[in-house]
Amino acid sequence: MPRVNGYAALEARGRLVLFAFDRRDVRPHDVAIDITFCGICHSDIHQARDEWTDSAFPMVPGHEIVGIVRQVGASVTRFKVGDTVGVGTFVDSCRSCDNCRAGLEQYCIPGNSQTYNGTEQDGKTPTRGGYSNHIVVDEHYVLRMPPSLAPQGAAPLLCAGITVYSPLRHWKVGPGSRVGIIGLGGLGNVAVKLARAMGAEVTVFSHSQRKREEALRLGARRFYVMPNVDVAEELKYGLDLIVNTVSVPIEWSRYIELLRLDGTMVIVGIPASPAPVEAMPLIGARRCVAGSGTGGIAETQEMLDFCAAHNIVSDVEVVRIQEVNEAWNRVVNNDVRGRLVIDMASLPAPGLDEEAVTDIGLGPGPAPGWWRRAQE
Ligand code: NAP
Ligand code: ZN
Ligand code: ZN
Repeated sequence: MPRVNGYAALEARGRLVLFAFDRRDVRPHDVAIDITFCGICHSDIHQARDEWTDSAFPMVPGHEIVGIVRQVGASVTRFKVGDTVGVGTFVDSCRSCDNCRAGLEQYCIPGNSQTYNGTEQDGKTPTRGGYSNHIVVDEHYVLRMPPSLAPQGAAPLLCAGITVYSPLRHWKVGPGSRVGIIGLGGLGNVAVKLARAMGAEVTVFSHSQRKREEALRLGARRFYVMPNVDVAEELKYGLDLIVNTVSVPIEWSRYIELLRLDGTMVIVGIPASPAPVEAMPLIGARRCVAGSGTGGIAETQEMLDFCAAHNIVSDVEVVRIQEVNEAWNRVVNNDVRGRLVIDMASLPAPGLDEEAVTDIGLGPGPAPGWWRRAQE
């Protein structure tokens, strides 16, 4: 089994540290990928800090993975060595439930295998994500990365991109649609670009005055710093769809009341605690609140091809893996433009930086899986 280096949280709220572990040997349908870039999604932080109370440790986060195929299994037909490929938020699913059959593997009924903080379909082998040198994934859960897209800018499309593309498509955004985006973070950055490319008129709601210029540059027609006393009057019945990407609880009702008759606010941000919803704004115009989770493999490929056709990538800042703990603090402190993306070339391959590995007691000495066994 190939030994891999990664960065892991060993406990909830712990700093990420260099962590050595094993990937499985390549099976007939597997693609082995050398990871080149991995985006930092706010979900990585929520989970490593156990904010959704479902975390397992040690945790190697990362589900916006771009890399180069190093090896393919004997039965692989869709990829070859040297291809640039992507992996998103899940690496397997049951493949037989109604939702998997419909290409909606993100909603797999028995549960898909999340790229990290989950298990393989055997229900016990822990999955480990893209803050690592290398990953092995069944070809059915691997995406083709369009060669025209810069890999560091395309990495965030694999979670942030599909998470906002899917609801824009589901609620049929097109020319003339009036779309509101709440929160101009990693998801919001791509959401404005995608909605514009679909022909929508976009309004951005932010709580950061300094993001006005960025929003307008991305193509937004209007920008409101929230809370805002004029917005209720100016945008009354003014929006068809709102995509709420905010990672903390906010007053959802103040946005719902901006929707037209039958308009929908889709929640994609996942705050750690509940946000209140008042009845009256819903009743006042038969409005809906909905949720949406990432997207299926086919739709993710469609999104990547749409991005290639419209030349869309995320705005990114590339960081080294050694800076990841500070980078996470910047995300939490809302001190990022677009996405931070880790250049995985900065992560030493196993055996090349024994000193750093030994420093935290994970060096050549302990056997693979030492941490898991130590916990048993
Ligand atoms: P992010 O880059 O941190 O962006 C979140 C944005 O929320 C910030 O840029 C900020 O925008 C706003 N915000 C942050 N703190 C705030 C506060 N105290 N009050 C008001 N607004 C605040 O995070 P992300 O990676 O885009 O992820 C956003 C959320 O989506 C996270 O909760 C993540 O877990 C979730 N997510 C869900 C899915 C899914 O499948 N549904 C997939 C990926 C991520 P402004 O400064 O513009 O207000
Ligand atoms: Zn994510
Ligand atoms: Zn399923």
